[in-house]
Amino acid sequence: MKTKGSLIVLSGFAGVGKGTVLKSLFETHEGYAYSVSATTRDPRPGEVDGVHYFFVSRERFEQMIENDELLEHACYVGNYYGTPKAYVDRKLEEGFDVILEIEVQGALNIKKKVPEAILIYMLPPSAETLKQRLTGRGTETEEVILKRMKRACEEAVGVENYDYIIVNDNADECAQELNGLIRAQRLRAKSNISFIRKIQKDLKDLTK
Ligand code: 5GP
Repeated sequence: MKTKGSLIVLSGFAGVGKGTVLKSLFETHEGYAYSVSATTRDPRPGEVDGVHYFFVSRERFEQMIENDELLEHACYVGNYYGTPKAYVDRKLEEGFDVILEIEVQGALNIKKKVPEAILIYMLPPSAETLKQRLTGRGTETEEVILKRMKRACEEAVGVENYDYIIVNDNADECAQELNGLIRAQRLRAKSNISFIRKIQKDLKDLTK
């Protein structure tokens, strides 16, 4: 069967609960690798360098772009965000399903570069739930919340470019659904060409 992992791009409005769903997914299932992004934004309370993000200076980020160290990068609410390439390539080769938690612009760039990547968009059950979750987080100023809601309005326009949507009503249930969706990708005929060829050849040999 196929040994290389799938490249999974997960996006969703800020506050939709991607982090909680992924935590539940990683706690209950093996075979996943999470790509830690580089960013120029400041760490939030509790965020750890190298775990949540690689927090880097603007100069270092621009150097990473120059050196072609990033699979993709984008600017979001005034800061750079990007996916370090080496880790993703290594984990895919090792057979892990690699999850990139990135915004729309980066996701569409990935799809152009890696057409077999699976793009999944996580939606809240309603717009009102999103606003409540964003306010309840308590880590952002009013101004940033408004900026993020406005950005959500813009991003909502691009959701139909994704391959799948997933609704986060309950984080654990959403994680199970996400797992099912990702695991199903491994069963695609296109992803298993060498196995199919082997069966075809063996069948021919056995009927000679
Ligand atoms: P936050 O500042 O809330 O952690 O992230 C802001 C947005 O940047 C989120 O939509 C998140 O998914 C996105 N993001 C995080 N890492 C990357 C990355 O490496 N590339 C891109 N394009 N977006 C990212």
